[in-house]
Amino acid sequence: MAEAKALTTRTVDFSAWYNELIARAELADYSPVRGCMVIRPNGYAIWERMQGALDQMFKDTGHQNAYFPLFIPQSFLAREAEHVEGFAPETAVVTHAGGKELEEPLVVRPTSETIIYAMYAKWIQSYRDLPLLINQWANVVRWEMRTRLFLRTTEFLWQEGHTAHATEAEAEAEARQMLGVYRTFMEQWMAMPVLTGRKTDSERFAGALRTYSCESLMQDNKALQAGTSHNLGQNFSRAFEVTFQTAAGDLDHVWNTSWGVSTRLVGALIMTHGDDGGLVCPPRLAQYQVVIVPIYRTDEERGNVLEAADRLRKELVAAGVRAHLDAREGMKPGAKYYEWEGRGVPFRLEVGPRDLAAGAVMLARRTGGKKEAVPMAGLGPRMVQEMERMQSDLLETARARREANSIRGATKEQFLAYMETNGGFVYSGFCGRGDCEAEIKEQTKATIRVLPDEEFQSPEQPKTCMWCGRPSTSEAVWAKAY
Ligand SMILES: [Zn+2]
Repeated sequence: MAEAKALTTRTVDFSAWYNELIARAELADYSPVRGCMVIRPNGYAIWERMQGALDQMFKDTGHQNAYFPLFIPQSFLAREAEHVEGFAPETAVVTHAGGKELEEPLVVRPTSETIIYAMYAKWIQSYRDLPLLINQWANVVRWEMRTRLFLRTTEFLWQEGHTAHATEAEAEAEARQMLGVYRTFMEQWMAMPVLTGRKTDSERFAGALRTYSCESLMQDNKALQAGTSHNLGQNFSRAFEVTFQTAAGDLDHVWNTSWGVSTRLVGALIMTHGDDGGLVCPPRLAQYQVVIVPIYRTDEERGNVLEAADRLRKELVAAGVRAHLDAREGMKPGAKYYEWEGRGVPFRLEVGPRDLAAGAVMLARRTGGKKEAVPMAGLGPRMVQEMERMQSDLLETARARREANSIRGATKEQFLAYMETNGGFVYSGFCGRGDCEAEIKEQTKATIRVLPDEEFQSPEQPKTCMWCGRPSTSEAVWAKAY
């Protein structure tokens, strides 16, 4: 078997590296429809693990799943002024169906606030019906002109939580709680550190009162918005007449939140941990955590090695490890190593006749370092420990990389130079004026990712706006972003 061509390296061309990695790992492919993506089994397996973990976290915080229709009457979108302005340019609209022109065109959902709150208006009557805590797993369509697999595609998969509350304080607490759920998932499952904070008005969700975001720094020093949570205030409940009788007997509009993450997270995972050999998947999200590759020359060796390898696989599975035995014939071990490495499998165990005689196997870690002989006895618990260590090492490595590519208290000159050369996160003072934000974006393409939450703020708060010198109203984190 001919050695496949190596990936373009990250330093030579990050974007080419990303595309080639996805092709080699067979995560996704382009579809016959421009801008749409086919998620292949290796990519979908990662998404399924993400879904499983998030779904449990949503249920643990009291949410239930439901499903709402793909089609939304076009007039619904127009009911909330900012919302229609934000989404109309990128909607796909069905005008004909069943061989006839429709009386009212139907929008293919770009997000489901409007249809969901139209239903909530029917379901909510009294304060006893609140809070209403619903999530839906669905596909949405946003007509994107420039698309990238997983990061920006015309159709993508996501979840959207939609809740209704009796008070503003409860809605605010919910929006913050779900931001925290996302952060926990991203750190503990994806091993991806995030900054959290509030978006400025120009980056806020169309129709929201306040938008909160988890922002992560990719290896090319561009930021990626990984998940958002919105306090919608009463904007949608006024537009859709979602009212309830309060305990005191008055009629009031409910307070809503919405929050979502999407298949974009798979792209974030690739760009956080991938290396020049391909994908590096954190153990908790890996389809296979351990792949066992048997090594033999003769038929006799083959029988013994395969038998031992399968016994080992069963022991690992019994210990709770997702282990796979790659017993494919007619393929050299080296070719198998190469393939599993490209797919990001965290650990490889090589089992050969000499190892068997010594009661050991060779352990190789996807994150590098020397191969190591480890005893077959007690391998299950050993691999569980190895996985936990790799999971936390990946998070720490990513956090250290982010901090090495962040600067605080930057002046205008430092900011401009940093954006020109290094990229990354720049913490600086901000006057709160949209004019400054727009000018900076125009000149540098950098945007305010978040006004950081307290735990991420610099010990010394900046006193003046890095751009205009007016008094700073809050610290801001700037970056070029996906
Ligand atoms: Zn300013």
